[in-house]
Amino acid sequence: MNLERLKEVLEGMPAFREKQIMQFIFKNFVEDFDEMLSLPKDLREELKGKCSLKIIAEEFVSDNKDTVKALISLEDGEKIEAVLMRHDDGRNTVCVSCQVGCPMGCAFCATGKMGLTRNLTMFEILEQVLFFARYLKKEDSSVTNVVFMGMGEPMLNYDNVIGTVRMLNDKNYFNIGARHISISTCGLIEGIKKLAEERLQVNLAISLHSPTDEKRGAIMPVNAKYPLKVLVEALNDYYEKVGRKIMVEYLMLDGVNDTGEDVENLAKLLSKERFFLNLILYNPTGNFSPSKGPNVKKFKELLEKKGFTVTQRYRFGRGIKAACGQLVTEDKED
Ligand code: SF4
Repeated sequence: MNLERLKEVLEGMPAFREKQIMQFIFKNFVEDFDEMLSLPKDLREELKGKCSLKIIAEEFVSDNKDTVKALISLEDGEKIEAVLMRHDDGRNTVCVSCQVGCPMGCAFCATGKMGLTRNLTMFEILEQVLFFARYLKKEDSSVTNVVFMGMGEPMLNYDNVIGTVRMLNDKNYFNIGARHISISTCGLIEGIKKLAEERLQVNLAISLHSPTDEKRGAIMPVNAKYPLKVLVEALNDYYEKVGRKIMVEYLMLDGVNDTGEDVENLAKLLSKERFFLNLILYNPTGNFSPSKGPNVKKFKELLEKKGFTVTQRYRFGRGIKAACGQLVTEDKED
């Protein structure tokens, strides 16, 4: 699928025609120009000759069917992954990638090992949501939530990520509420500051994973440039401007960041009024082991005693390598 080319083709057309075709694609999720019956036949033929609406992807479905991973091939041959998570309460969350690979090098992350190949365009990010919108349409269902938590660091592809958010949010297209869209960053504060100025009601998530510079610096190279003091200052400023609680993503790594002392340090670092914690059960990708069940339970209880709201992320898609930190296009996996 090459939506960039389609956009070029549409540019010469009257605005109403462009909107009509865009709505067929991003509102009605049609997969073929032949289905656009209200368009003149010769126009449909012309469009068919110039661009394809086919998304080339391999699908992997988990045993319990709650997770579907799509390995999407892009026009230049690069591959990216997107994941659909189907919740018991009816929500259908799509986790999208925003880069091919990632340059941030977090020690626990499979994507980080790939390095960065390139940023995705806005349409390449949208294509991932579109793939699952079409998939769910066949079951009379729809995408309800989108999270930017796949391959790549969203703040390094800021304009295309925000362009995608606006398209997703637009009532004329996907019509997904801003509060159902989440952007996760490893802590690039220029991006956090810019996002604060947008005053969008999207959810901001910060991959924290450790409450001290020493520990965080050992697993996340970004901490050398933006130590916790600077990061938390930017996050507090974001909260003051946007007024929405920030999700702190916290991977539970055995013997690394899961002690009572870590809870004490978290409580010193973060205000419970402004942040809530999402504990993530680690899916081993190399150097670390997941925290043991009783330790996770204790860690959660201690945080709750301190007054924090704590959620625990359900493990989606482990069997198909679709879980957090496992997204990596296979031919580059080591
Ligand atoms: S955790 Fe996120 S920011 Fe860090 S290397 Fe992986 S994809 Fe990049």
